[in-house]
Amino acid sequence: LREDPSFWMDNNVQVVIRVRPLNNSEKTVHGYNRCLKQESAQTITWIGQPETRFTFDHVACEGVNQEVLFRVAGLPMVENCMAGYNSCVFAYGQVVRNVAVLFVDHEDCVHALKPFNCLQTGSGKTYTMLGEISDLEVRPSPERGMTPRIFEFLFARIRAEEESRRDEKLKYNCKCSFLEIYNEQITDLLDPSSTNLALREDIRNGVYVENLTELEVGCVNDIIKLLMQGSMNRKVAATNMNRESSRSHSVFTCIIESTWEKDSTTNLRFARLNLVDLAGSERQRTSGAEGERLKEAANINKSLSTLGLVIMSLVDLTNGKQRHVPYRDSRLTFLLQDSLGGNSKTMIIANVSPSLCSGNETLSTLKFAQRAR
Ligand code: ADP
Ligand code: MG
Repeated sequence: LREDPSFWMDNNVQVVIRVRPLNNSEKTVHGYNRCLKQESAQTITWIGQPETRFTFDHVACEGVNQEVLFRVAGLPMVENCMAGYNSCVFAYGQVVRNVAVLFVDHEDCVHALKPFNCLQTGSGKTYTMLGEISDLEVRPSPERGMTPRIFEFLFARIRAEEESRRDEKLKYNCKCSFLEIYNEQITDLLDPSSTNLALREDIRNGVYVENLTELEVGCVNDIIKLLMQGSMNRKVAATNMNRESSRSHSVFTCIIESTWEKDSTTNLRFARLNLVDLAGSERQRTSGAEGERLKEAANINKSLSTLGLVIMSLVDLTNGKQRHVPYRDSRLTFLLQDSLGGNSKTMIIANVSPSLCSGNETLSTLKFAQRAR
């Protein structure tokens, strides 16, 4: 994995592919067969028909741990916010459905049920962003994901800056919110009775969610409390509506405000840090969705493809090509409009399973990530 900050010089959008290890079920049924082969720190080959080679800013193979991933994909985003700009980290990944349910017959042979009966598993989005949720409170667990690590680093940087610029009376103030977008509707994950919140835009505030809870935070423990509370509410909301929580986008935002004095005037600066666990993308042909489920899947795919288009337009803009940026075509991109483009930095972490049995899902993620580059 390359840890070279000069990467950012020519492109404000970066794409990392994160390959998770095979899980037990994948190992048992498919005998360690993989659909991916890493070629270098930046290239990976999809082994299939036709064999396809992809190049990204970084490829994090199965052995890359949470700490290393944070240094590559999280730390530069914090530095960008400390410099007064906005940052977005997205975790993208397919719903991996065809991991088989096993059964053993009377001759001790292992069989797999047909894919449509199969258990659903993930490609690693939540593991990347949060880590094992049960581990969150056990610090410092090596399994902690990007979000707790980002805030640990952010608060340490803030303390150091305040200390070194004491003569300017530099002070930071951080406020967090946590929301979910499901079927193009916004719910406050810190106050789940607030559903269907409105997105507004005005000159003073830019784009904002009306009546969204914003809580002041001062240390990593405050963040972990909010993450646990929000994740719990996300699960409860999904259960109450009889859906999977992976079908919504969750957006954790921190507004970092700083004030300092210079030449007897007070200066004020804001930066936004957005951490987004995207809804699992799903190939419609295999999902067998009908009715409400189909509408839901269509909304997810629409908002993910809009995100893809927005990012593609931004990459074109950096390369000098003019293009309409379709922010308003989905709630997610409209909400993040001020944090995408301009001096903002965007990190897309595309999570994949290396198993042969999710080869098509993995290919689809690699293609999405390729377009974003
Ligand atoms: P998603 O959020 O995309 O649905 P998850 O993050 O929940 O997927 O991951 C599915 C399972 O795989 C979880 O049990 C998780 O702990 C495990 N997992 C995912 N990525 C990794 C990784 N890089 N290393 C170890 N385990 C992982
Ligand atoms: Mg998840």
